[in-house]
Amino acid sequence: MNTKKYQILIAGGGITGSALLYTLSQLPEIKNIALIEKNSTLGSLNSSSLRNSQTLHFGDIETNYNLEKAKLVNSGAQLVADYLEKLPTNDGLFSHTQSMILAVGEKEVAKLNKRFEDFKGLFPNLQKLERAEIEKLEPKLIEGRDLDTPVLALCSKDRYTVDYEKLCKQFVSDAQKNKSDIDIFFNTKIKQIKKTASGYEIYTDTEKFEAEIVIIAMGAHSLLFAKQLGYGLEYSLLPVIGDYYSTTKPLLNGKVYTMQNEKLPFAAIHGDPNILNPDETRFGPTALSLPILERGSMKTFFEFIKSTGLDWSSIASVIKINSDKEIIKFVLENLIYTLPLIGRYMFAKTLRKIVPTIHVADLQKEKGIGGIRPQLVNKKERRLLLGAAEILGDNIIFNVTPSPGATACLQTAKRMTKQINLFLNK
Ligand SMILES: Cc1cc2nc3c(=O)[nH]c(=O)nc-3n(C[C@H](O)[C@H](O)[C@H](O)COP(=O)(O)OP(=O)(O)OC[C@H]3O[C@@H](n4cnc5c(N)ncnc54)[C@H](O)[C@@H]3O)c2cc1C
Repeated sequence: MNTKKYQILIAGGGITGSALLYTLSQLPEIKNIALIEKNSTLGSLNSSSLRNSQTLHFGDIETNYNLEKAKLVNSGAQLVADYLEKLPTNDGLFSHTQSMILAVGEKEVAKLNKRFEDFKGLFPNLQKLERAEIEKLEPKLIEGRDLDTPVLALCSKDRYTVDYEKLCKQFVSDAQKNKSDIDIFFNTKIKQIKKTASGYEIYTDTEKFEAEIVIIAMGAHSLLFAKQLGYGLEYSLLPVIGDYYSTTKPLLNGKVYTMQNEKLPFAAIHGDPNILNPDETRFGPTALSLPILERGSMKTFFEFIKSTGLDWSSIASVIKINSDKEIIKFVLENLIYTLPLIGRYMFAKTLRKIVPTIHVADLQKEKGIGGIRPQLVNKKERRLLLGAAEILGDNIIFNVTPSPGATACLQTAKRMTKQINLFLNK
């Protein structure tokens, strides 16, 4: 088998790996880099716009973030926004969108009012909207809504919908312009990684590679390789699948999020215009935990078992996480959405919090669409890790969950680049 040698090898061509490649390409001291991707194109898994909500999260409408987290998220989003605005052409890569968080009922309205006071300093353009103002921007949120139910919204008008798959391609194309010593390998699946005295040997189904420093940016697949090398043994994986329903006509003018549960690491159900099809609104994501590493690929079941292990502490952790009353309710609701007929009916019922007149016939399930949010579980502490999940090793980093998702790509890349510099200078 032919061996190819690189100073740095990035495994995984999703948004995390692509943003890292772009960031590293700006450093003249890096000699050469390989990016290895098992599929035939960049961003085809969770970074694909079919599989995520296409939101650039700034932290203003995500009510599970406290002020400190929102500051961090805001600065990460700003890095991406600045990059997007400097591109010579847009080419369907992003669109400007208004983004809203909607509170329904007295309790939520009081919470959102308080939040506005706490957050308006950080987000000076955030507007507080009463019923009539909401109606002007998003008529469907008010049409048919009970007049006695109080509503309130916060809205930022200068937000972004992003096709992260196209962004992957843009990052890699820019990286190749910045540095000539970059090689991209598609259809190359990493099978095994071995530590050597000078770095790592990476065995794939086509070639063998050697690298001084390795960055594993393979999302749900990263933990398996960490464990192969003796890292992250205290973790198991809880893959949370998110699917979408779409409408046959556009119902919303921008993004509308609902109040989030602070105990959950991901967004509550929301409605978004689809960057790939302006004639529809997408609603979701649902959240269902299944023992697989890729949406729609049952053959990843065995990889899941290998990465998470089926020991008692993994099972006990899942039982403990699911013993919280609010989490049980959330899990059961989402389980019901998967049932034939009744599932779609119940989902439409939930969506009436956003669009009161929505009918089950307005919705169609997007087949094969949806992705996986790989949540790490600390088996010792029996708790879900909220936020970024990264494992550091000797000249190697395993990124499992960038947080918040694709939005954090450049922030994550900057942080990993700092660590790579430490590796290089030790
Ligand atoms: C339902 C849902 C909604 C979301 N909505 C948003 C949102 O609105 N905004 C946001 O910012 N984030 C969102 N996210 C999160 C975001 O999509 C992910 O965090 C992000 O795409 C992860 O990127 P990644 O590059 O780390 O992983 P991935 O995109 O999964 O990329 C990993 C890559 O590694 C490759 N790979 C895997 N195994 C191997 C191997 N053995 N050899 C070689 N290559 C391999 C894969 O083929 C893949 O291309 C959402 C996620 C989901 C599931």
